[in-house]
Formats: sequence, C-alpha cells, structure tokens
Amino acid sequence: MTQPTHIEDDVVVSIQYTLRLDDGELIDEATADDPLIFLQGYGDIIPGLEEALYGMKVGESKEVIVQPEDGYGEYDEDAYELLPHDLFKGVPLEVGLGIELRDKDSEEAYEVFVAEINKEGVLVDFNHPLAGEALTFNVTVVALREPTEEELDHGHVHFEGDEDDEDYDDEDEDDEE
Ligand code: ZN
Repeated sequence: MTQPTHIEDDVVVSIQYTLRLDDGELIDEATADDPLIFLQGYGDIIPGLEEALYGMKVGESKEVIVQPEDGYGEYDEDAYELLPHDLFKGVPLEVGLGIELRDKDSEEAYEVFVAEINKEGVLVDFNHPLAGEALTFNVTVVALREPTEEELDHGHVHFEGDEDDEDYDDEDEDDEE
C-alpha cells in the first residue's frame, strides 16, 4: 500500500469544508477534527464537488462553486404530491420534516420533505432542500489514504464500529428478491 499523494479515483479523502449559499448563509460544515470522509470517484458526494477535488493534495484549499445541475438539481415546481394521511400513520409529521418514501414497484427510495399538512392529506416536496441553489464550498484536504479491498468493492468508506454495513446489506437483499 502506498500513501496517495493527491486526490484521484479510488482514494479515501478527508476534507474539512464550509458550505454557503449565494447570500453567504452557512448551511453546513465539517471541521478538521470531524471531517467528511468518502471514496473519490463513486459519486459518494455531489458531482460538482467531487469533480473539483481531483489533483488536490493534503493541506491544499480551494473555493468551489457548484451550480444546481452539478449539485442537488434544479428546483422543480411540479415536484409536489398530495399523499393520504393513512400513509403516515404513527409518524409525527411536521412541516420541513424529511422522510423516506419507498416506491412499491421499483423499490426505489426517495427522500421527500413535508411542505404542508391539511385536511386532504400531506403535501410532500420531492425537491431536495438545496435544489436550485448555487453552492459555495471552501474546502481543505485533511488526509488521504488507500481504501481497503472491501471499501473498493462496496464503493464507499467504512467506519470503525459500523461493521454490519446496513446500506450495503440492504442492497444485497433487494437483489435476491
Ligand atoms: Zn460497505
């Protein structure tokens, strides 16, 4: 195993960053002590950011502006659906809450957001909360390392303590059905 010198595909990358909107509002951040860790080249992070990181070295910083089409998509005014209350039995609903919906046929999961709760049902928004936003990242590369065989195989990073790898196991089960 050799220590990677710069960001390229199949390298485990740790970054610290701030994420701001056009108006300067801080939306998200990761610090050097608690960085974002991911496997480069597998779409584990949004495409516009992943693309901009290629070639960066440890300690290097960069400002990256990601347009909606390379981030969380354009805002779609029609991406709303009124769903019956029955679907949410037992779920403590509130406006702004993110929930995962699974399509019965395709088994595909969507994260949606509660836009409105009224007599007729629950209006959910299929847009990501950051859809339509230009995103400004200030990124510093904290560390680089080689992935393990298993991480490469799965296309994502493994963390100490999450041995059961739930996401990956779920996918396996779906394939077998
Ligand atoms: Zn895994």
